[in-house]
Formats: sequence, C-alpha cells, structure tokens
Amino acid sequence: HSTAQPRLLGFNEPDFYIVVTFHDITQAKLAEQMRVDFVANASHELRTPLSSLIGFIETLESMDERDPEAQARFLSIMHSEADRMVRVIDDLLSLSRIELDRHVQPRGRVDLARLIDDVLKSQTHDAEARHMTLEADLPGDLPAVRGDRDQLFQVFQNLVRNAIKYANEGSTVTVRGRPLDRVPESGEPGASVQVIDRGEGIPEEHLPRLTERFYRVDTARSRRIGGTGLGLAIVKHIVTRHRGNLTIASTLGQGTTVTVSLPLFEPAASDARQREPAGA
Ligand code: ADP
Repeated sequence: HSTAQPRLLGFNEPDFYIVVTFHDITQAKLAEQMRVDFVANASHELRTPLSSLIGFIETLESMDERDPEAQARFLSIMHSEADRMVRVIDDLLSLSRIELDRHVQPRGRVDLARLIDDVLKSQTHDAEARHMTLEADLPGDLPAVRGDRDQLFQVFQNLVRNAIKYANEGSTVTVRGRPLDRVPESGEPGASVQVIDRGEGIPEEHLPRLTERFYRVDTARSRRIGGTGLGLAIVKHIVTRHRGNLTIASTLGQGTTVTVSLPLFEPAASDARQREPAGA
C-alpha cells in the first residue's frame, strides 16, 4: 500500500519495512506449506504400498493349508508393491540431488542427436510391449547443447516414458529436434526438442500443475502403470538448472507435445586457449 506515495517515504519510515516483512512472511509461509505438503505426500506414497505389503504378509502367515497358486499370486503382487516403493525412493533421491546442485550450472558438451538416439534405444522394449513406434526427427546439423549428459538423458527418458505410458496403444511417438534462435527466458541461442504423442491429451486445467511433485491427472491410473508422480517435477528441475525452458501443450483427443529448449554448448574461454597452437 505504500507504493501509492513512494516519494513521501524515506528508507527509515516504518511503513517501508512493514511492506517488506509482510512479503517475506508470505513467501516463508508458502515455502513452509509446500514443505509440509511434500512430506505428507511422500509419506502417503510410501505408506500405501507398505500397508499393502503388510496385509499380504499377514495373509500368507495365516494361510493354514498349502495353496502354492495363491502364494505365488500374492508374492508377485508384493514384489510389484516393493518395486513401486523403490521407484518412489529413487525419484525422491534424484530430486534432492538436483535441488542440492541447483545453483551450479552444468557446462558439459552434450550431443543431442546421440543422446536422443540412446534414449529411444533404451525405451524400445516398453514401446514394443504397447505396439508403439518411436520415431526420431533430427536434422544432421542439430547443435550440441550445454549440460550434464546423465541429467538430460533422464529428462528425455522421462518424457518418452510418459508418451509410451499415456498415449494410445499402437500409436507413434515422435522426438523432434531443431536449432533455436533464442531459448525463452535466457535469450541464448539453443536447440529445442519436442516429444510428441498421439494420446488422449490432458485437460487444460491440469497443465499448469503437472510439474508439481506428486501431481497426477488420474492418480489410480498413474499408479497402476508404474508412475510415481515425480517424473515431470524432475524434468522441470533439471531443465531450470540448465537455464532451459519447458512447455507442455495438449489437445484433448489428439495428444500432448512437451518442448524442452536448451542453450548451446560454448567452450569455456580457458578451454579455447588450451586448444590454440603454442605461440599463437
Ligand atoms: P507419473 O509418474 O504419474 O507419470 P509425471 O510427473 O511424469 O508422473 O506426470 C504427471 C501426470 O501428468 C501423469 O500422472 C499423467 O496424468 C500426466 N501426463 C504426463 N505425461 C503425459 C502424456 N504424455 N499424456 C497424457 N498425460 C500425461
């Protein structure tokens, strides 16, 4: 409210401080609320499979007559519940590692075309299981980007996995790379990669929240097909750390396109000097 008469306020005026403090408390409260929600959500995500495991253990303990068929069925469910806990924990660990390094910008040289090829190869088995085709649309002159290869692998692997999980059986997933004049926000020259699927799409009201931790459009479905609700949060964190940009566009009944833009690789000045011939 003090902005209405800014010239009347000296820096020692108490009103000035009231405004700043109010803002800080709001931010701090928001951060605190997010932390509380996160702990509650994470606990719930781990408790659900654990409760189911305990239930099956008790059932197995109380089975008096031997029923190898039922036992095998229960053990297989227990195995997949335990696998789910491992996936949630692995994703949580990934997230915390990325958050820890968020102020350090990765500067390695990453050959995008090769990286995407490797990601697609790693997903052929899952794509075949759903009779889907993975298609790469990459120009020969796709420039190298700046970053951490393992983390960028994780970005595109998560996006291609989502496309395979949520698009229609038998459909084609396209990964399209293009040079880009300017990465939105940072303004640096870069490259963009789009992961395009022909699925049922995502209702518009969900789009802004998809990168929140544990946010899902259909929780039961995501859990059934092995989702943790953390994939896009991880993608967002990694892309931000790379000073890149992430957009998700979707049309109901047609499919979803996720676009990742990344800045180009630039050799550090010291590397360039090292490569110059002696005496140059
Ligand atoms: P999950 O592990 O549940 O897949 P993500 O963070 O990767 O978690 O995605 C969040 C949610 O966004 C998913 O649960 C799903 O509802 C929706 N989603 C993500 N990618 C797609 C896609 N390509 N098509 C349709 N829905 C998607």
